[in-house]
Amino acid sequence: MANQFVSQIADIETDFPQWYTDVVVKTKLVDYGPVKGTMVIRPYGYAIWENIQRELDSRFKQAGVENAYFPLLIPMSFMTKEAEHVEGFAPEVAVVTHAGGAKLEEPLVVRPTSETIIGHMMGKWVESWRDLPLRMNQWCNVMRWEKTTRPFLRTSEFLWQEGHSVYATEEEAEQETLNMLHLYEEFAKTVLCMPVLTGRKTEKEKFAGAVATYGMEAMMHDGKSLQSGTTHYMGQNFAKAFGVQFTGKDGVLQHGYTMSYGVSTRLIGALIMTHGDQRGLILPPPVAPVQVVIVPIAAKKEGVLDACHALRERLQKAGLRVKLDDSENSPGWKFNEWEMKGVPVRVELGPRDIENGKMTVFRRDTCEKSELELASAGEELCALLGEISENLYQKAKKRMHERIVNAETLDELLKGVDGGNFVRAGWCGCRECEDRVKEFAQATARVMDGENTAAKCVACGKPSVHTVFFARAY
Ligand code: ZN
Repeated sequence: MANQFVSQIADIETDFPQWYTDVVVKTKLVDYGPVKGTMVIRPYGYAIWENIQRELDSRFKQAGVENAYFPLLIPMSFMTKEAEHVEGFAPEVAVVTHAGGAKLEEPLVVRPTSETIIGHMMGKWVESWRDLPLRMNQWCNVMRWEKTTRPFLRTSEFLWQEGHSVYATEEEAEQETLNMLHLYEEFAKTVLCMPVLTGRKTEKEKFAGAVATYGMEAMMHDGKSLQSGTTHYMGQNFAKAFGVQFTGKDGVLQHGYTMSYGVSTRLIGALIMTHGDQRGLILPPPVAPVQVVIVPIAAKKEGVLDACHALRERLQKAGLRVKLDDSENSPGWKFNEWEMKGVPVRVELGPRDIENGKMTVFRRDTCEKSELELASAGEELCALLGEISENLYQKAKKRMHERIVNAETLDELLKGVDGGNFVRAGWCGCRECEDRVKEFAQATARVMDGENTAAKCVACGKPSVHTVFFARAY
C-alpha cells in the first residue's frame, strides 16, 4: 500500500531543506507567524520545549542556579556601554521609539540577550565578597532581526534560557563556563540522544563582548553543523562596563568576573535534523510529548476499547506519556500519522492480542514489530524506551564519527565538506586563513579541538597552532 504521508514529504536525501520544512509544518510543530521571520510554536512543538525546559531546569537547580526574570526592554544606552557587544548586535536589534502615543526620550531595545540589563542589576546587588557568587538563569524570549529565517533554526523571535553568573575570581568564572558546557553536553546526550563536539570558538566566531566562547556542535542528517549551545567567559568586560564591584576579603574594592550560557528552541530543530527519516520525525523518548500511542485494532469488537483504556491507565501510572487514539480513522491511517509525528512506540491491541495476553509493539527508530506480554506492559515499555534512546544516540554517534575526516590542504577540506563531513584540519591562528577557508569551501571553524595534532595550517602551510573542526553550518 502506498504511504500517503511519505509522498507528502520531500526526499530526505536529495532535498533535505524541503524535507525539514515539510516535516515541521505537517507534524504541526510550528506555523509561520504573520510578521515575516516569526514562528508560532504549536502545542505539539511546545510540548517538546516544555520537556526540554523541565530537564534542563532541574539540572540548573541541582547545580545551584536560581531562576529570575528581567525586563524585555533595555535602554539603548546600556547596549553602547560594552563596545564589542553593541557592534556585534547592532545590525539585528529591534528598537522601540514610540510608546503611549509619544516619542520616547530614550529608545528602547527589545532584548537580543540580557548581559547588559543583568550586568546593570548585578552592579546594584553585588557589594561584598559575601554576595558572590551570584548565579541566575532566566527562561524568556529574545529578538534578533534576521533576513533569512527557518522555523526553530533562525527566527526573529525565539525562546531560550540565559544563565548569568558573577564570581570573585577569574578561575571560578572560567571553571563555571566549562562546567555549563559539560552540563549541556550531558543533557544533549541523555535527553536529546544527540552526540556533540564541544570546544572553544575562534576569535571570529566568539560572542560579542566575550573573552572566550565555547560551543557544542551537532551533526545534522546532511552533514552540516548546528551550533546547539554556547557558554561565554566575559572576564571583567561587562563588570567594568556596568560597575559590578565588590569589596574583597582584603577590604579592596574590585571588579567581578562574569560568564553566561544559553540554549534555545533551536534544539528542537537539532533533534529533528539529527534523528528524522523519510517517514518524518523520530523523537527521542525523553522529550517526546507522546511516548507510547495505543491503536485499537477492530475497535468495535467487544472488550477491545476497554482493554485499551485499561492499558493506557496502567502505562500512565508507570510514568509514561501515553495517547490512546480512539478516533474514527482506520488503523493504517493512524499508523502513518503517528509514525510521521515520531512517537517512539506504538502499541496495537486487537481481540487476538487480548485473548493471548500479548500486545503488538512497533518501535519507530528501527520500524520493527514485536510481541510483548500485556501483564508486564509498564516495565517492558519503559525498558524499550530506554533501549530506543540508547540506539538513537549510538546511531547518531556512529554517523558523526564516520563523517569526521582530516584534511591537509584546502582542496581536501573542500572535498570533505562537499561530501557532508566535518573536517579536522590544522590552523595557524590567523584571521586571514580562517577567512580563506570560508571563501574557498564555504565552511567555518565550528570549534577547536582540545589538542593540536595537525602539523600545518590548512590554508597557508605554516605550523599549526590549533586543530579545528571545520564544517558548513546552519
Ligand atoms: Zn594559516
